[in-house]
Amino acid sequence: MRILILLFAVIILILAIRSLFIKPAKNKPSKPPALGEKMVSCAVCGIHVPESNALRLKEHFFCSEEHLQEWKESLKNES
Ligand SMILES: [Zn+2]
Repeated sequence: MRILILLFAVIILILAIRSLFIKPAKNKPSKPPALGEKMVSCAVCGIHVPESNALRLKEHFFCSEEHLQEWKESLKNES
């Protein structure tokens, strides 16, 4: 019976040590992009998207085709 208690104590110790090592990783942002990928922000809504997923118009980036069109429309209205 002592062995079981000892085994149980060891398992709890291992879990406690593991949780200490796992915790720092959880502090990172919830949806990490692919490592090394540059993040750009949409010129319309400001949301951050990986550069490979973003649409580009000159120096501006967009999260979706809709926002790209919206940006083009707003440029027309200004001029
Ligand atoms: Zn957007």
